[in-house]
Amino acid sequence: MVTALFTHPSSLTHVTPDGHPERIDRIHAIGRILATAPFAGLLRCEAPLGRDEDILRAHDPGHLQHIRSAAPENGIKYLDSDTAMSPGTLEAALRAVGAATGAVDLVFSGQANNAFCALRPPGHHAERNRPMGFCFFNSAAIAAHYARARHGAGRVAVVDFDVHHGNGTQDIFWSDADLFYGSTHQMPLYPGTGSKSETGVGNIFNAPLRAGDSGEQFHEAMGTTILPALDAFAPDLVVISAGFDAHHRDPLGSLQLTEADFAWATLQLMELGETHSRGRVVSVLEGGYDLQGLASSVGAHVRALMGGDDF
Ligand SMILES: [Zn+2]
Repeated sequence: MVTALFTHPSSLTHVTPDGHPERIDRIHAIGRILATAPFAGLLRCEAPLGRDEDILRAHDPGHLQHIRSAAPENGIKYLDSDTAMSPGTLEAALRAVGAATGAVDLVFSGQANNAFCALRPPGHHAERNRPMGFCFFNSAAIAAHYARARHGAGRVAVVDFDVHHGNGTQDIFWSDADLFYGSTHQMPLYPGTGSKSETGVGNIFNAPLRAGDSGEQFHEAMGTTILPALDAFAPDLVVISAGFDAHHRDPLGSLQLTEADFAWATLQLMELGETHSRGRVVSVLEGGYDLQGLASSVGAHVRALMGGDDF
């Protein structure tokens, strides 16, 4: 089993305002755990820059132009009340896109079985025409479109276990029956979308959880809603929007998941990947704001991707 790990130093130059949860230290925390012995076997890759032509399959030209023109030469520029750009943000966001498409290249070429992209900023709140919720470009959605355009994938699924609903991915996938979006998330919570009644063209599967829910309810939501629908969809590639803010330590959510729950979900998705997509799984970091919970959860997730059982 070959698991690729994409990173890039530009993730450390996207500066957010003091006290902002989506901060540089997240990458340091992940880097520390992935530098330890159990992860020595990872295929380490530097993320390329995402290309305009790839971004434009998921975003309108006006959105790309908006992000490019909003990038400040100094200081911090707010695009909304919680989404801000610093001089290093544009490159960081483009590298996050390039990691996701680069990971798709590796799993389709057979150089890797699966991959984890440990970059920031995250992407799943970015809609076709709107940056939002710490997100600028929707890397997971871009990767899904890229797999179809460049590698002949017919159907691509994004499964999102971040504590927040991925309104952006849902927005981009809404009317395309060959793209699947399945999400577990806390409701009510930001951004307010994600009810079961939001179904797109029968390709959107929301399984909301309530504040206080733990692994038991998470397993049930995955097992009764997301995984059966994913199995029926039979994807050629599984993309994971891997947010770890459903961890019990996280300050932004009120779910009670543990590292073992994330590893379990990862294994379930890998198993369906084996059935339908030759094991091709690309995982993209989304949220996760308690540094200890984030690091240990990423560790469990990546060990699962590597085929380990020590989480
Ligand atoms: Zn989140």
